[in-house]
Amino acid sequence: MIFRAKWVYPVEGSAIENGAVVAEGGKIVEVGPFAALRGATGEPVDLGDVVLLPGFVNAHTHLDLSDLHGQVPPQGLFIPWLSALMQKRSAATPDETSTAEAVRRGIEESLACGVTAIGDVTTTPDWTRPMLARSHLRSVSFGEVIAIGQRRSMLERRLAAALAAEWAAPRLRVGVSPHAPYTIEPAALRRCAEAAREIGAPVCMHLLETAQEERFAVAGDGDFREFLMRMKVWDDRVDTPGVDPVTWLEREGLLSSKTLLAHVNYVTDAQLAVLAERGPSVAYCPRTHAAFGHPPHRFREMLARGINVCIGTDSLASNPSLSVLEELRHVRRACPDISAETLVRLGTLAGAKALGLDDQIGALMPRRWADLVAVPAPSGKKLLLDRVLDGTSVPTAAYIAGKRVYPSEPVVAG
Ligand SMILES: [Zn+2]
Repeated sequence: MIFRAKWVYPVEGSAIENGAVVAEGGKIVEVGPFAALRGATGEPVDLGDVVLLPGFVNAHTHLDLSDLHGQVPPQGLFIPWLSALMQKRSAATPDETSTAEAVRRGIEESLACGVTAIGDVTTTPDWTRPMLARSHLRSVSFGEVIAIGQRRSMLERRLAAALAAEWAAPRLRVGVSPHAPYTIEPAALRRCAEAAREIGAPVCMHLLETAQEERFAVAGDGDFREFLMRMKVWDDRVDTPGVDPVTWLEREGLLSSKTLLAHVNYVTDAQLAVLAERGPSVAYCPRTHAAFGHPPHRFREMLARGINVCIGTDSLASNPSLSVLEELRHVRRACPDISAETLVRLGTLAGAKALGLDDQIGALMPRRWADLVAVPAPSGKKLLLDRVLDGTSVPTAAYIAGKRVYPSEPVVAG
């Protein structure tokens, strides 16, 4: 199968004009100028005046919250928003049908946005994973574990659900997400770390999302203690690590390249140095970050220190869409000094690396899956990727393992 486009941007390597990607059995076998293809035969799929890129990777999202789109708009402060979200969620008593429908919507929107792989955190893996397993989307599904105070006893049940091999499929990998430092106690985090290590499962954790988190980890008080009391989760046996969250995760051996940290909005120089040394990835969620009015994210310094920074949308409860392309455009507007090549890499190969999939996807090169997205580049004098990121075009087609996943039905001309 030959995919032909006005431009091919492989991420590893420079843009190819009148380029082509050849796939066999779903995997890429050749990338280059169409006129110079070697062995490929057959009628090409001509994608037209677009840039053909590796599919976008949304490294941090929660598709099971897709039904809360616009219902709990962030109004600047994280803890009141989280309280409202949890109240809304428990009032709606999500069941298997409503959760599956939310996930289905999330999958559909992701594909339409040219996202071909996701790191998805789910509180109900048994309801979410059947949908992911049936879809074409490539996913690492992190089952969320909350185990603190009155929720302490949920640990083993949640952990077993998170790491159950039952739903693992060629495009679906399972992992565990100890939710955040204010929702998991030290013994529970250790248990999650051991269980993940035992089977080589990836770990995702929300970390340093708010300024109040460190105080809770160190001293067990402050706004998060009040939050847990309000939620009737607090009890007098709540245990906290007594150290800052980065030191805590390092102590538990959780700062390896198998760990993905979501947000990392409040990080000190010393913590940055530890992250750089240990090698976890960081999912920066630009529009969610902006919605809560956090100080500027330190992703530039992270990149300069060699930390693998990737892009997440977080859920539709805090973000207008599941589009990684729109996240990149947001960063582009806020940080015009960052090159378009760097941004596209964050939204593709860096996300693949964060999910442990960089030997399979994230760049257009032989032996990787033919996960592709076609994005029109408006004409103009600027460089190709600048035109893509400065424009407003939306993907016209997306492919996973060479199979078209968006638009899902053949488009009939006329
Ligand atoms: Zn999240």
